[in-house]
Parts: sequence; structure tokens; C-alpha cells
Amino acid sequence: MAGHSSALLAAVLPHYDLIVCAARTAAEEAAHYGGFHVGAAMRVIMPSGGYKVFKGGNQKPSPDVKKICAERVAIDRARTAGAVRVEVVVVTGKLKRDDESGQMGETLHPCGVCRDEVLTDPLIQDDTLIITVLHANDGSIPSADLAGVKIELHTRGSLWSFHGDHAHHTHGH
Ligand SMILES: [Zn+2]
Repeated sequence: MAGHSSALLAAVLPHYDLIVCAARTAAEEAAHYGGFHVGAAMRVIMPSGGYKVFKGGNQKPSPDVKKICAERVAIDRARTAGAVRVEVVVVTGKLKRDDESGQMGETLHPCGVCRDEVLTDPLIQDDTLIITVLHANDGSIPSADLAGVKIELHTRGSLWSFHGDHAHHTHGH
């Protein structure tokens, strides 16, 4: 890969620790019968005004149990802890075609269920940064300059439009 645009790097490098956290979480916490390990890490604002990080790994230990995505594990933990809002979400995993939209980005995007449930959660805002990182989940840690690491930067709106999701109503429910 030739390298990232300077704008992308400037936007994602401040969140390097969160990217590492998501990669570690995929390796340590995800449980998938087929080895499709996904890690999510969220930087959230707490009622004190301080920041905390919540993480989660996907759970699908056998083919016959319903999947629980990494993003949902992480946001459930943040909500339970009383988070006020999510500033940044990082998702790491291997690339896979989206089951719902049939689209494939350059990195693994939140699935259709997460786009409907996690991205419409009141903790996620229009300006919440969503960083998706292609990662083999082999226990390796992305290098500190993120050279050679495939990364995309989204908002929920850009994900919804990429996947052609139906209009989302985030008010009044
Ligand atoms: Zn999902």
C-alpha cells in the first residue's frame, strides 16, 4: 500500500491506543467457531466529564448460537457504566462481505444489525468517529505509524449511505 492520505492519518493517529485496544480485544476476548474474531473499542465521555474506554469481542462460539457482535458487547458495557456519549468507535477484524447489503468496504464495517441497533443508540452521535481497521487478529499489534494498515474513517451517516440502509429515525424511540 502506498500509504494513507495525510488527512486520514491525522484523524486516526490520535486514536492509536484505541486501535491497539480493539486489536488486543479481538485476540483475547472474541470467541468464534470459525476464527472470525472481531474487536471493538469505544472512547466514551462519562458523567464526570472524564473519558473511559470500553471494549468487546464478538461471541459466536458455535454455528447454532445467535451471534453477539463486538460493537454490541462494548456499547452495552458503556451504557451499563453510565456513559454519556461515545466519541470514537474502533472496529478491527478480517474483511468480509456485508450479509445484509452485499457491499464490501476496504475494511470490516459494523454489520446490518449493528448499523440498526448500535449506530442508532443515543450514545452514538452524528459526529462520532467510526474507525474500521483491517486486522488479521493473529495477536499482532498495528505499528505506531499505522503504515501498511488498512483503515477507513466513517460516521454513521457515511456507513448508512455506503450500505444503502433505509432511512434511520434516531429520534423519539
Ligand atoms: Zn454487528
